[in-house]
Amino acid sequence: MNKQSHRYSAHLRLNDFDENSQKLIEDSSILIIGMGGIGTIASLYLVNSGVGKIILCDYDTVDISNLPRQILFQEDNVNQNKAIVAKEKLHHFNPNVLIESIDKKLNDSELDQIISEVSLVIDCTDNIQTRLQLNKICIRNRKPMIMAAAIRYECHIAVFRNDSLIDGCLNCLYQSDEENIETCEGNGVLSTIAGSAGIMAATEALKILMGQDTELNSMISIFDLKNNINQLLKIKKSNNCNISH
Ligand SMILES: [Zn+2]
Repeated sequence: MNKQSHRYSAHLRLNDFDENSQKLIEDSSILIIGMGGIGTIASLYLVNSGVGKIILCDYDTVDISNLPRQILFQEDNVNQNKAIVAKEKLHHFNPNVLIESIDKKLNDSELDQIISEVSLVIDCTDNIQTRLQLNKICIRNRKPMIMAAAIRYECHIAVFRNDSLIDGCLNCLYQSDEENIETCEGNGVLSTIAGSAGIMAATEALKILMGQDTELNSMISIFDLKNNINQLLKIKKSNNCNISH
């Protein structure tokens, strides 16, 4: 077994995973928007899992209040840009992965360009406007999008297989249910919950990259880790959605 196969040998022992599955992961690229508590953990696992190229995007800087959950960052990173610090840290975990950082907010045409060239997008922001912007551009480019959020003790994970069957989208969801618009900023979040959401998002990403089906297409999975309850909700296509799909 060569060094690379040995590195991923636990993957290769899975009964539905072979050398080709790992190659599919290595030939893939992911755009992660938001390097907070979810994005840092998702990126850490995806880099270590051998995704070929990962683009990290965040215009924000590290604050000391981020440290309990954004565990790629340390005290001496306070006031530094999150995407740039994450790129430097992650490179040491797996130098085989090409990592790029973007330290600014991207406009529609910049996102269009980048998203057209990646395999999938993970939305780890805490911002409804950015979520809807990514939703629109991923649908336009027929790219899968994974949305991850962490609020209080809850992880929210949704998958949109825009590359195959486009059903209800995020714009359909938010137009029909304003109650979903909550943020961890306003509600608080336990540090481990953000990490759990990051790992779940990374798992969905790996499943898509290696060609597995997901049960989550146009569904939102809500894990209440305080009460250990998992709910799966269908995101219905809305007639009021102003995105053509
Ligand atoms: Zn829609």
